[in-house]
Amino acid sequence: MSLAPSSELCITAEGPTVVAFPELEASGVCAAVSTRLGGVSEGPFASLNLGRGVGDDPDRVAENRRRLLAGVGLEGRRLVGGHQVHGDAIARATPDGPDELPGVDALYTTDTRVALRVLVADCTPVFVVAPDVGAVAAAHAGWRGTLAGVAGKLVRRLVTDLGARPSAMRAAIGPAAGRCCYEVGDEVLAAYRAAYPWADDHIAGRRLDLHGLNRRQLVEAGVPAERIAVADLCTICHPELFFSYRRDGRRSGRMLAVIGWAGEGERRRMANVPGRWAG
Ligand SMILES: [Zn+2]
Repeated sequence: MSLAPSSELCITAEGPTVVAFPELEASGVCAAVSTRLGGVSEGPFASLNLGRGVGDDPDRVAENRRRLLAGVGLEGRRLVGGHQVHGDAIARATPDGPDELPGVDALYTTDTRVALRVLVADCTPVFVVAPDVGAVAAAHAGWRGTLAGVAGKLVRRLVTDLGARPSAMRAAIGPAAGRCCYEVGDEVLAAYRAAYPWADDHIAGRRLDLHGLNRRQLVEAGVPAERIAVADLCTICHPELFFSYRRDGRRSGRMLAVIGWAGEGERRRMANVPGRWAG
């Protein structure tokens, strides 16, 4: 039996299939990354597209978002996210602020009325939970955000703003463009090698390992390696499970990573997807 944190693919009672993280849930949070399964959208957005402004019917996107939040136990929360720019700006989300924060790629909150969202389609979603200060956090880290070190900066921000101890944190990294598929240009590889002395541990040929790079940044920021779950799934080579911008281009759907504190007596209504995947 492995004691390493795990991830699992589950069908929620509301329909959406999600990637969930049991150890995060044991800390009292609801957290999941959606797949493309279990929604009402059609065509290139079939079926669980959660992105607005990508060409899908807004009513279908709204229904998909409702299903996801209800399915993972975050119904009724104020859903707050960044208007993402592939940067490293971090903001604190509150229930009375705007629900979309301009120029922000990472957020945290200590308010149980707020759920955080990160929109992805190949970029890496990263969750951080700091139970000692009651904070949940999420980051959007594609190659630019990962190069900027947004995941590590988010951990350090929880330390400076809230006094959180990294050794008490838990983290999870969701599906993203995988090291099996994610080729980048020479200038990107050179930028990584200039920024991180250990970059080559996570580069193979021209392919970048976003999962490994983000995990490394969390560890460097003080999060114990054994408390970081990695859903080592590639969005590009699993078209049956995930939308992928790299694979499908502009007219493709988006997944959402969502996290918030579980309510009193609330339970995630899920069953494992039998035989589909385990990791
Ligand atoms: Zn792949």
